[in-house]
Amino acid sequence: MKTCEILVIGGGPAAITIAKNIKDSKDVTIIRPEDHSMIYCAMPYAVEGLLPVEKTLKSDDIVTDAGANLVRDYVESVDFDSKTVKTRKGDSYKYEKLIIATGAEPILPPIEGTNLKNVMTFKSENDLKYVMNLVDQGLKEAVVVGAGAIGIELAQALNKCNVKTHLVDMFPTILPNMMDADVMDDVQKQLADTGIVLNLGNKVLSLNGTEYVEEVVLEKGDPIKFDSKPLIVFAVGMRPSVDIFRDTELEISKTGIVVNEKMETNIPDVYAVGDCVEYTNAITGKVGLGKLATNAVPMARLLAKNLLGADRKYEGFYNGAATKVVDYFVGSSGLTERVAKENGYDIVVGKAKFTTAFPVMPFAKEVEVKLIADRNTKKIIGGQVVSGEPVTDKVDQITMAIQFGITVDKLTQFSYSSQPYQSFFPANNLLAHAAEQIVSQL
Ligand SMILES: Cc1cc2nc3c(=O)[nH]c(=O)nc-3n(C[C@H](O)[C@H](O)[C@H](O)COP(=O)(O)OP(=O)(O)OC[C@H]3O[C@@H](n4cnc5c(N)ncnc54)[C@H](O)[C@@H]3O)c2cc1C
Repeated sequence: MKTCEILVIGGGPAAITIAKNIKDSKDVTIIRPEDHSMIYCAMPYAVEGLLPVEKTLKSDDIVTDAGANLVRDYVESVDFDSKTVKTRKGDSYKYEKLIIATGAEPILPPIEGTNLKNVMTFKSENDLKYVMNLVDQGLKEAVVVGAGAIGIELAQALNKCNVKTHLVDMFPTILPNMMDADVMDDVQKQLADTGIVLNLGNKVLSLNGTEYVEEVVLEKGDPIKFDSKPLIVFAVGMRPSVDIFRDTELEISKTGIVVNEKMETNIPDVYAVGDCVEYTNAITGKVGLGKLATNAVPMARLLAKNLLGADRKYEGFYNGAATKVVDYFVGSSGLTERVAKENGYDIVVGKAKFTTAFPVMPFAKEVEVKLIADRNTKKIIGGQVVSGEPVTDKVDQITMAIQFGITVDKLTQFSYSSQPYQSFFPANNLLAHAAEQIVSQL
């Protein structure tokens, strides 16, 4: 039996971050089943042909150069008493410390017909190759269920490959967990103008057919019928990959492994990080959605630093995220207006719309910011950006305001920069202007 100082189960961003941060300071072994770790975020862009599949695959060097031992295998069981892990290939590993970074898997809803051909979810290298192969063979029709970032990106990719694509979501607007409806009118219209058939505020009830799906039955309206063998992809959310721990004493809730602010589980010397854990939203303090690489990596980095002697505590999810919808870049951080209200906040909203460069510059594009503040504390609790240029820097500014408790009063005095190529006139700044609007309503 092999003995490991630190044994990590998983090969995603969380596991890789552990290896990269611990480096040679301790002996790290990573067990993951896939041939390659993947850049999942890039998968839709491979479908549309922007980059080859190979570019979505990470080289093993990323962990082995950091000094970690990489084992291609699948962990079938863990005995927490004897601190031993057993794998599918029949090997056993003894650990001093165990880090669970098993991630999450896409949900295939329990409805009739999901066993039919070409019905799938979209996360792995095989999923990507399967979709690309169908496209290469002349796929004509597809339904993407779920208009979150993954669904939106995949629907656009398929549409660009001349696949007639339907996008279905229970919510009445796209990106319902990221963006409020009031900033999405133009974006949604442009998406519909590309030819993607938007079927929003509707629910898939079942898939009918014999070998392939012949019709998608919806809660409202006529079923979607096909003239060819369609692809149906569910992008309706993730569930933690924790099945191997079901009959153990590891504490697991519906959304993941329960950990404290140091990523410790209820079992000594066993930690969990990334998509497989349940964690709280940093703003509401309640368990919240947060299955993002940008949440997984900070959790893993914090744990690695603590294992090297630091004493850091994880604050929770802020959920800064972004995507691209046709010509628009959109993103958000913190709570949307809908979620803030659901959580009982008395909110005040401010908006600002300027241009991404001085408006006299020929390439200037519109950019809109929406800020959401808590009337009681005057703190920013959410924000959204819709722009003709990339938004992640602006989303990160909003996250910083939320994370470090900046009030709208402070934000009116935000000291910003300005230059013709890169911002609106010095006369105004998006965040300062939106904050002024909020202050005027308090
Ligand atoms: C199409 C797509 C696009 C995305 N785009 C973005 C984006 O733009 N921005 C963003 O922040 N996030 C994005 N995400 C989410 C992001 O990829 C995940 O949040 C992130 O991968 C989570 O990292 P993780 O290491 O916790 O888990 P994962 O990346 O899921 O990795 C889990 C690993 O554990 C392994 N594993 C599981 N069980 C076992 C076992 N029993 N034994 C051994 N190994 C096991 C798995 O095989 C896998 O290697 C996207 C996801 C998808 C699918």
